[in-house]
Amino acid sequence: MGQRPMSAMSFSALSPGAEAAPDPAAGPVDFVSLAPVDLPRDALAPGGALALVVHDVAPATWERCAALLEAATALAPSLPATLLVVPRWHGAPSTFSFEAAMDAALARGHELALHGWSHLDPLPARGALQRLRRRFYTAGEGEFAALPQADAARRLALGRRWFARRGWPLHGFVPPAWLLGADSARALAAAGFDYSCTLDRFVGLRGQPPLRAWSLAFSTRAAWRRGLSRLWVPMLARRLRNAPLLRFELHPDDVVHPGVRDCWLELLARALEQGRQPLLLREVAQRMPRGAVD
Ligand SMILES: [Zn+2]
Repeated sequence: MGQRPMSAMSFSALSPGAEAAPDPAAGPVDFVSLAPVDLPRDALAPGGALALVVHDVAPATWERCAALLEAATALAPSLPATLLVVPRWHGAPSTFSFEAAMDAALARGHELALHGWSHLDPLPARGALQRLRRRFYTAGEGEFAALPQADAARRLALGRRWFARRGWPLHGFVPPAWLLGADSARALAAAGFDYSCTLDRFVGLRGQPPLRAWSLAFSTRAAWRRGLSRLWVPMLARRLRNAPLLRFELHPDDVVHPGVRDCWLELLARALEQGRQPLLLREVAQRMPRGAVD
């Protein structure tokens, strides 16, 4: 099954309700085929939890990411966020000023997690379905969608070393575009991380069952996508009112478009008013009950 382009885990995210059947050929990596658990609202924190997650954090995007954080922390000054950092965003090296900004973010209580190495899918997509999934749906940014295991392991090790050299603690890996191929999932299981995420799951990597946790995420690439997102995301948030974790999964451009920005700010303000406790993703992993069964 090494050729499987995208895990059942990430593809099932596109069709809610369709759960992946366990795949005996997938080897020892259970989290790919495990059905997710549903937990009560207070499972992670009394009154529920929320997580503010900023994707694609890199020198080229930092100005927008910083503006996004500023808008969010205007609601609650000590609101903690998990920043998904890309060491070589589209091949570009890091910069001194960016790394100083990351040091400052850590000092303010934010978490840094690894979000790929370059954020680019290096492999050609084979066939129409792969092209649809990996080029149209993700704009060719699913770096870990189809990598062979050794290549995925190498990129994960490079990322770990990059964090270690800077003295930054590292607990989580979130694949670009939430796409994790079966070979990449095997590499991830052996790489020593505490957690990962897909579009609809929070995945503890220390023996916890995956938690069903849909992302509140916007698509901003075109006006029609933004319009649809502003309808879809509030609807999803209403459906998730009793979920244990509300995931605000935001991208740099979510602060650029005023309609989108106002939409997530309003949802975030409401979640805070309703008593949801903001958590870093590493705290979510720590609080995940280990023995929970479906
Ligand atoms: Zn990303």
